[in-house]
Amino acid sequence: METVSGMSPAEKEALGERLEAVRDRLVRAARVSGRSPDAVRLIAVSKLHPVEAIVAAMGFGQRLFGENYVQEALAKQKALPDPSIEWHCIGHVQLNKAKDVSGRFALIHTVDSLKFAEVLARRLPETVRRQSILLQVNIGNEPQKSGVNERDLPALAEAILAIPRLRICGLMCLPPFFDDGEAARPYFARLRELRDSLQTRLDIPLPELSMGMSGDCEQAVEEGATLVRVGTDIFGPRPARQA
Ligand SMILES: *Cc1c(COP(=O)(O)O)cnc(C)c1O
Repeated sequence: METVSGMSPAEKEALGERLEAVRDRLVRAARVSGRSPDAVRLIAVSKLHPVEAIVAAMGFGQRLFGENYVQEALAKQKALPDPSIEWHCIGHVQLNKAKDVSGRFALIHTVDSLKFAEVLARRLPETVRRQSILLQVNIGNEPQKSGVNERDLPALAEAILAIPRLRICGLMCLPPFFDDGEAARPYFARLRELRDSLQTRLDIPLPELSMGMSGDCEQAVEEGATLVRVGTDIFGPRPARQA
C-alpha cells in the first residue's frame, strides 16, 4: 500500500461531495424504476486507495467497502479494526488464497468454482458460523474473465448448496462495456433473469444482485441491482498497482 502524506480538508470535502453525488444517482435510479432506494446498497470500492481515503469516506457515513486484492484488503482490515465497517471481497481470488479470505468478509462476491467454495467452507474459522457468498457469472461469456458460465451456473449452485456453512445470497457480474451504461444494461437484465430462475430451481431466496460500477450504476439499479460497486466516482482515479 502506498503511504500518502495525508488528505487535506479540501480533498476530504471533495470526496464527501462525490460520495453524496453517487448516492443521489442511486436514489434517482431507484425511484425511476419504482424501487425503494433502501433496496440498493452502495459499496465504496477502495482498492489501491489508502486507508485514509476509507477513513474520510467513513466521515461521510460510509461503512460498506469493497476490496479486490487479498493482501491489501487484510492489511486495511488490520489498520481499521472498526467493527462497524462491512468489508466485501469483490476481486478474483486465487485458489491458494481462498483460505485467507474465508470468514474475513461479510460477503465474498466472486465464487465461481466448487473448489473455491470447498476451501472457503473448510477454512472457515470456528468463530464464524457461516460465510455468505455470491456466485460470479461470466455474463458476457468472455474467455479472459472469471466467473461461471451461464450454462454451468445451476450445477455449480446445486453443488455449493450441499456444502454446510456457506450461504449463497445471490449473483454478481462484471459485464463487458462497463464504461457504457446502456450497452451494459442487457447483461444486467440477464443476470436478474438468471437469478430468478435459479431461485425457483433451488427453492431458496437469492435476494442479492451485485452489479453496476461508476459508469453504469444507474442502469444496474434500474435492472434490479441490490449492491452496486463504485470506486472511481467516489475516490477518484486509482493509483497504479504496485507489482
Ligand atoms: C474496481 C472494481 C469496481 C469499481 O470500478 P469503478 O469503475 O472504479 O467504479 C467494481 N467492481 C469490481 C469487481 C472492481 O474490480
